[in-house]
Amino acid sequence: MLRVELLTVGDELLLGDTINGNAAWLGQRLAERGVEVTRSVVVGDGLDEIIQAVRDALGRADAVITTGGLGPTSDDLTRDALAKAAGVPLVREGALEHRLRERVAASGAELQPMALRMADVPEGARVLANSAGSAPGLRVELPGGPVYALPGVPYEMRTIMDEIVLPELAERAGLPAVARRTLRTAGVWESVVAARVAEVEEMPGVTLAYLPDPSEVRVRITAAGEDPAALLAEAEGRVRELLGDAVYAEGDESLDRVVHRLLAERSATVATAESLTGGLIGAELTRMPGSSATYAGGVVAYATVLKERLLGVDGSLLAAEGAVHPDVALQMAGGARDRLGADYGLAVTGVAGPEPQDDQPVGTVYIAVAGPGNAFRVTRPRLPVPGSGAESRAVLRRMTVVHALDLLRRVLIGLDAEPAAGDAQKDREESG
Ligand code: ATP
Repeated sequence: MLRVELLTVGDELLLGDTINGNAAWLGQRLAERGVEVTRSVVVGDGLDEIIQAVRDALGRADAVITTGGLGPTSDDLTRDALAKAAGVPLVREGALEHRLRERVAASGAELQPMALRMADVPEGARVLANSAGSAPGLRVELPGGPVYALPGVPYEMRTIMDEIVLPELAERAGLPAVARRTLRTAGVWESVVAARVAEVEEMPGVTLAYLPDPSEVRVRITAAGEDPAALLAEAEGRVRELLGDAVYAEGDESLDRVVHRLLAERSATVATAESLTGGLIGAELTRMPGSSATYAGGVVAYATVLKERLLGVDGSLLAAEGAVHPDVALQMAGGARDRLGADYGLAVTGVAGPEPQDDQPVGTVYIAVAGPGNAFRVTRPRLPVPGSGAESRAVLRRMTVVHALDLLRRVLIGLDAEPAAGDAQKDREESG
């Protein structure tokens, strides 16, 4: 197996100002393509530290991937470090300089002399074109193997990786000895998911990993053996059977994407009415380019009086029951659908804490969908109340978003509101 080490460069990573998302993304992507990441090291913006770290890494692995330190400023030292490690000078690449000048001219700005550093490459290095930004990547041959140096800016790094580096490494790695797939579930607790699929862990050559987020669990299936692809297909089939409709997608397809796709397939739109989530559901539903085709808009009716004024919730119901009640959620959903002129209305009301509200404990949440033809559905997900304080509030709000999107997904494909292996407590359907 091809062994690769990662070297992420930047003082901001050491200081904790930037979370090392590049290393996480690279680790996942390389594993998917059968390349083994054997070590991941973070180093600051120091010339000697970078040189030493690259040499150490090549002493162990077949190749090294670095990110960061390729920009124009004086603390961007990766290209200098690689030139020094290779014992070659930096030379200016005419084609790169030309491209830089063009990019700057197109933006109407003036080229800073410093920026020309990005046209300098260690002599003999191969330039990895950056179709997403200014600083190109570099491939430098050192004793011990190649170093792929990529920019720190995540989407530039990902672009060069996907376009150039990954195909190259995957080819060198040959056919993967393992096959992997990740299934995504919503609305079911991690322990329930794990218990459901426990028997699959008994299959020789199959391992499962559970990657939980609030109210979502990704199940990563890894198959190793003579024919990993066939074993994976068998294991995946079994996992899907056991988890049923809690599985909403695989790989990178997030819940908002699934909802967007389902709405688009039906040429339908949704409008939202949010209380405790304060617009987070609307934010999710507008993440996708093209979401205007499926998302009409939303009302954040945080104050109780606005639920009546903006969404038409019955004032006497609010007075009698408070704002956290299944019928309030239903009327909010109907109000959003009708007043915003959408096909579906999706509403949430509940108590995010830390204080209880209207005698309802923290974590009480009602989610309702109003569909075409006056069909309504409301659920009360059972949300674990995680600790106290601001963080628990954030987690509860995130869980509510996931359950809300999942309820809409279920309604759209005609499923029960409660996941097959699920934890929803209350489900009520009404019509008329
Ligand atoms: P630039 O051309 O922008 O200067 P660069 O190659 O010099 O690119 P850095 O200056 O090291 O890259 O980082 C640019 C930005 O990219 C950082 O401010 C940070 O936001 C982000 N970044 C850098 N490294 C990482 C990382 N390991 N994970 C996530 N984000 C990162």
